Amino acid sequence: MDRCSFCGKPKKECKILVAGLDGHICDNCIEQAHSIMVEEIGSAGDLMFDDIKLKKPVDIKDFLDQYVIGQESAKKILSVAVYNHYKRLMQKEGKDETEVEKSNIILVGETGTGKTLLARTVARMLHVPFAIVDATVLTEAGYVGEDIESLLTRLLQNADYNVKAAEKGIVFIDEIDKIARKSGNPSITRDVSGEGVQQGLLKLLEGSVVNVPPQGGRKHPEQKMIPVDTRNILFICGGAFEGIEKKIASRLNTQVVGYGATRTREHIDKDNMLQYVAPQDLRSFGLIPEIVGRLPVLTYLEPLGKDALRAILTEPKNAIIKQYIKLFQMDGIELTIKDEVLDYVVEKAIEFRLGARGLRAICETIMIDAMFELPSGNEKKFVVTVEYARKMLGKKNLNLLRA
Ligand code: ADP
Repeated sequence: MDRCSFCGKPKKECKILVAGLDGHICDNCIEQAHSIMVEEIGSAGDLMFDDIKLKKPVDIKDFLDQYVIGQESAKKILSVAVYNHYKRLMQKEGKDETEVEKSNIILVGETGTGKTLLARTVARMLHVPFAIVDATVLTEAGYVGEDIESLLTRLLQNADYNVKAAEKGIVFIDEIDKIARKSGNPSITRDVSGEGVQQGLLKLLEGSVVNVPPQGGRKHPEQKMIPVDTRNILFICGGAFEGIEKKIASRLNTQVVGYGATRTREHIDKDNMLQYVAPQDLRSFGLIPEIVGRLPVLTYLEPLGKDALRAILTEPKNAIIKQYIKLFQMDGIELTIKDEVLDYVVEKAIEFRLGARGLRAICETIMIDAMFELPSGNEKKFVVTVEYARKMLGKKNLNLLRA
C-alpha cells in the first residue's frame, strides 16, 4: 500500500499523496516542508526581486573582491548602490511610502583601472542582462551616428530580446566624459555641446518608455521598434575625466581660503586628489547639470600601482596566469611561471604605460610560441624563466602595444 515516505501515513488517511520517483509525500508533509523552506530562506535574509536573489552589501563586496583588485572605496559604494537599486525595485507601487529614488552610478578613473570590470562583475553576480556601450558613438536623432535609443539595443540582444529581463538589466556607458565633444564628425555643427544627446540620455537615466531599434543603428521606417521601460535599468557610467585632479585641487584650494584654511589644508592628501571628487567637478567636462544630478552615486577608481598590477596577474578568480595554467593543463602540460617573470611583466606594463590592459597583451607575447608548439610536442612540463620572457618580448612587439 502507498504511504507517505516522510510520516508514514497511509494513502487513505491523506487528502493528497503526491508520488515521486521512489516515494510519496502527503499534504501535511508538503505544508511542513514549505514552512521550513520559508523559515530557512527568511532567516538567510535574502531579498528576492522576481528571480534575482539579492545579496547584502557586504556579500556583494565579497563577490567583487574575488574579481577586482583594490578599489576599496568604489567597491563599497557600488555594493550599497546596487543593493539600494534592487531594493527600490521591490517597493510596491502605489503605496504611500517614501519613494526611493533611482541611484545611477558614475565611476571616475583612468582607463584600465577596472570600471568596466566592476560593472560587469555586478551583472554577473545578479545574473541580469548586461551591456557595454560607448557614449562617443551617440548623436542626437537626425544627425550622423547612432540614435540614443540604440544604447539599449545591445542590452536587448544580450537578453535574447526578452524585454522583461532587459528592463532589470545593467548598462555600462563608457566614456561619458566625451559625450560633450564630438570629434571626428566635422559636418555636425548644430549641436556642438552635445546637449541634444545629453537630453536624450537624461530621459533614459530618469526612466521612461523608449522605442528601441532591435538591430541598432539609426531608426528607419521599416524597422519595428521595441518599447522598453528604462525605469528599473541600472545605468553605470564611466569616464577618465582627464585632468579632473587639477579641478578638484583648485576647488579645494579656493574653499580653504579664509577662516580655518590652514587646518583644512593639512588634511588634504595631495597624492590622491580623486578621493575628493564631487559632482561639480564633472561640470567642466561639458556634462549638463541635470545629467550630473541623475547620477547621484559618484565614486572613483585609483590608478593601479605596481603591487596592484602584480596581484591582478595572479589573484582574481579568473586571473590571467591561472588561465594559462589551466590551458596547458588541458594538454597535460604542467606550466610554471617564475615569480621574476611576473615582476618583469609588471615592470614592462608600467614602463610602457599600458596599465592593467597591457598585462594580457604582454603575457600573450611571452606565451605565444609555447602555446603554438607545446600541444604537439612530448614535453609534459614547461617553465617560463625571465630570460625566456625577455627573449620573447622583443622591443618591436612592445612598441606596437603602446597605447
Ligand atoms: P576601464 O573600464 O577602467 O577602462 P577595464 O575594467 O576594462 O578598465 O579593465 C581592463 C582589464 O584590466 C580588465 O579586463 C581586467 O582584466 C584588468 N583590470 C583592470 N583593473 C583591474 C582591477 N582593479 N582588478 C583586476 N583586474 C583589473
